Amino acid sequence: MQNILQHIPKTDKLLQAIYAQNSDLNYPLVKSLVADFLISYKERLLSGGARLEIESCAKEVIKSYQNLTQKSLKPLVNATGIVVHTNLGRSVFSPVIVQEILPLLTRYNNLEYDEAKGCRSERYVHLQGLFKALLGAEDVLVVNNNAAAVFLIFNTFAKGKEVVVSRGELIEIGGSFRIPKVMEDSGAILREIGTTNKTHLRDYQEAINENTAMLFKAHKSNYAMSGFVKEVGFEEIVKLASERNLVDYYDLGSGYFGLNGFENSLKKFEPALEEIAKLNPSLVSFSGDKLLGGAQAGIIFGKKVLIDKLKKNQLLRMLRVDKFTIAALEATLNAYLENKIEKITTCHLLLKDKETLKKESQMLADLIPKEFEPKVIPTKSYSGGGAMPSHYLESFAVAIAAKDLVAFGLNEERLEKFLRARGIIARLENSAVLLDSRTLLEGDRERIAAVLEDLKNQNHKRDEEK
Ligand SMILES: *Cc1c(COP(=O)(O)O)cnc(C)c1O
Repeated sequence: MQNILQHIPKTDKLLQAIYAQNSDLNYPLVKSLVADFLISYKERLLSGGARLEIESCAKEVIKSYQNLTQKSLKPLVNATGIVVHTNLGRSVFSPVIVQEILPLLTRYNNLEYDEAKGCRSERYVHLQGLFKALLGAEDVLVVNNNAAAVFLIFNTFAKGKEVVVSRGELIEIGGSFRIPKVMEDSGAILREIGTTNKTHLRDYQEAINENTAMLFKAHKSNYAMSGFVKEVGFEEIVKLASERNLVDYYDLGSGYFGLNGFENSLKKFEPALEEIAKLNPSLVSFSGDKLLGGAQAGIIFGKKVLIDKLKKNQLLRMLRVDKFTIAALEATLNAYLENKIEKITTCHLLLKDKETLKKESQMLADLIPKEFEPKVIPTKSYSGGGAMPSHYLESFAVAIAAKDLVAFGLNEERLEKFLRARGIIARLENSAVLLDSRTLLEGDRERIAAVLEDLKNQNHKRDEEK
């Protein structure tokens, strides 16, 4: 046994060997990893493990250092065709927008400072003018996300009071956000009306009593109803609320500006923000990083007197947004105002036409090794982000197969998994791997081609070894 343990390197020798291979490592971290290594190496030797040269020991320590310090968050290729994909980071910023906001993030700024008066101001003012110009909104408030907006609004106006909601709109969305639960936790009392499939205006009228605070409408976001159905439009809800001196509130989920070219897609299925704003609602909220294409945020607009009340709620301090959010939203909204929506990646992707998508798919197919039999095919992509759940956008994809590679045990499932392990998220459909061009960004085609080239070479190598 004594003999075996002789092979364990001395700490200082191992440290020397490590720094000979890589001089740019944080010393305290290396030291603690060396200690861990020596313990596990001793155990390995005692249970009959192989002896290692000191260079190999050093390599192992460096490898565990790199595993630890490697960044967990990494860029992926979204080839699913789902534009606003929450699991993949929702809305993407264009490099142009990031360039615009970079000086604000890397320098001091006037986030809460009035330079003219030399005194403190409010962080929300930076967005007020933009919302006024775009929507004619009296005032605006921004919180961390739309879920927070919903909670803040219920808590401010309906704590201990009733909120009237249609049973058809008691939704659950991803991440276990359920309207009835949020309402309960905020202190509001849920007053359900109607049935799952039908709710009439008279249901709202009959539910109103002296303890009613609010008439609430929620966008159905991720499901659709058809057949024998009826829901009450927001216009009628706003009118009734104003007659009875109540607050009306629409949780729009994924708000979007319909001004620029969405006539043939979104606008057919969902009201745009401008149309909702024209109804002169009490309060509306929506996400900043769904179809709007900006940063994660919950954007609330509506009547100034009500927004002032929201600002007085202590909760707002806990839901407060950072300069990053305000800067990114300001740049995004400016792009809308100046009608430069190509700067907003989400809009750019949603508006890509079939011809462009076909051409881009052909470009991708030409880059992919022919062993994968790349074929350009028409397909359906989705906006995602809780908008148009039952409607698709026509798109084009490259279908790849693994027929030639079956001999190496590579079927379509394995191919999809291989791509995924290398950061390319594709779609499996009718036992083909699809790479949808709608969601591919600059450089993605080359990255996909390089990964497939690599896979092909690996298989050829294995072929030669046989
Ligand atoms: C997405 C969504 C939310 C939550 O928005 P986040 O910005 O993800 O917090 C709330 N309500 C509806 C109707 C939604 O679609």
